Amino acid sequence: MWLRCTRRCGGELFKALAAEVIVDSAGRYQDHEITLAGYACLNCGAPALDLSAVPAELELEAAEDLAPVAVDVLCPICETGVSILPGDECPNCGAALIS
Ligand SMILES: [Zn+2]
Ligand SMILES: [Zn+2]
Repeated sequence: MWLRCTRRCGGELFKALAAEVIVDSAGRYQDHEITLAGYACLNCGAPALDLSAVPAELELEAAEDLAPVAVDVLCPICETGVSILPGDECPNCGAALIS
């Protein structure tokens, strides 16, 4: 995680907007659990953005946009070298090819 203030005020501390703090019977802090991914800058109060999550989402979208790439295989039935998309049949003899 890499939190950054959306106002770029330079604040280095952030608070979780929704977190459960686990305490023991004496009320002492034991652990915490972020129940909602939302943070605010402690310095100016602006929402904080998790920059480490952004590139991953962009990569995911880019992967979905990728068109299937044709591969060169040698058909085992007619022994012809053909260029097909994964899952396609041999354009020469119609045999099912596993690339
Ligand atoms: Zn700020
Ligand atoms: Zn073939």
